[in-house]
Amino acid sequence: MWTRWQQIGIFVMLLPVLTLAGSCTPVRPWSDSFVYHSPHYSIRTNLSPKVAAQAGDFLEEVLPATCQVLGCPPSFPRLFVYMYASVHQYEKVVGPFGLTRGTTGFYSPLPPKAIHLPWRFTRGVAPQVTLLHEGVHQLIDQTFAFSVPTAARKLLPAAEHSLIAAPLWLNEGLAGYMEGALSSNGSIVVGTVNSQRLSHLKQLIRSGKIPPLRKVLSRSYGESFNAADYAVAWGIVYTLRHAATPMEEQRRRQRLEDYLAAAQGAFFKEPEKEFITELLADGLAGRTLTSRWHRRLAGQSLKAFKEIILGEETTLDEWQHSWRHEILQLQP
Ligand SMILES: [Zn+2]
Repeated sequence: MWTRWQQIGIFVMLLPVLTLAGSCTPVRPWSDSFVYHSPHYSIRTNLSPKVAAQAGDFLEEVLPATCQVLGCPPSFPRLFVYMYASVHQYEKVVGPFGLTRGTTGFYSPLPPKAIHLPWRFTRGVAPQVTLLHEGVHQLIDQTFAFSVPTAARKLLPAAEHSLIAAPLWLNEGLAGYMEGALSSNGSIVVGTVNSQRLSHLKQLIRSGKIPPLRKVLSRSYGESFNAADYAVAWGIVYTLRHAATPMEEQRRRQRLEDYLAAAQGAFFKEPEKEFITELLADGLAGRTLTSRWHRRLAGQSLKAFKEIILGEETTLDEWQHSWRHEILQLQP
C-alpha cells in the first residue's frame, strides 16, 4: 500500500523557470486553508483566492488536453488537489505518506484521493509541471480502474474491490509525456518533446547504460522505478504518438489506443472467469491480492506490448534497436 504510493509519487526533472503569480504573497497558516471549486476540481489551499483561481483555470485547461491523450470516459468524479503555499508546509505532509522530501508533489490513490504539491518552484521544477505529471496519475486512477467481479468481492476487503489497471511504465510514460506540454509562455501544447527526458535518454543510449525495454515494460508497482526508467517510459510513449509521416503516426497512435483499451480492461478477455482462475484459485495463500495483482499486471503489460504494439512484424529486440536509433535522431 505504501509502496504503491511511492511508485506513483514522482521526482520530476529540471525545467525552465516560469513566473509564478502570487509567489511573493505572505504565507498563511494551513489552518486558514479554504477550498476553491473550479468546474472539475476542488482545490484546498492556503494560497490567495487569486492564485487559487489561476491554478484552477490552469487545471481546467490541462484536463481536456490530458483526456485527449488518455481517452477519458464522458464523466468522472470530482478531482481533488491540495496546494501548499510553502515547501515547508508540504514537507510536513510528505512524511506520513511514506515519501521522501525529494518529491515535488505526489498523487495519493487512497482516500482521500488527491494531488499534493507546494505552489513553489521545488528543486527547479515549476508546480505547473508537477500538476501536469500528477494530473495524469490522478486521471489514470479514475479511468484505468479495474472493478473486481462481484463473485470475488465477498472474498476481498473493500480496498481491493477496485484495482489499478494501467501498468507502471504506461502510467509514468504518459505522465512524462504530459510534463513536456507546458510551453514557455505557460500554455499547453500536447506533443512537445520533453527536452530533459530526451537529453537523459540520449545519454543513457550513448553510454550503454539504458535499461532494456523488456525490463521497463514489465516493472511492477512496488519495484524501484528510477530516473532511467522514467526516461525510457517517456521515450516509448513519445514514439508511439509521433512519427516522421502522418500515415505512420496514425498507425502508431491506433496501436497505442488499442493498448490503452486493453489496459483499461486490465488485459483480460473474460474478466469474470479469468480474475478468479488467475488470482484467487489458491485462496491467495501467502500473498495479498494487491501484490499478486501488480505482478500479473507487469507480466501482462509486456505480453500485450508484444501482441498489440509490435504485432507479427518485428521482435522486441528489433523494435528496441530501431527505437533507440529514432530517439537519437529526435530533436528537442
Ligand atoms: Zn509519476
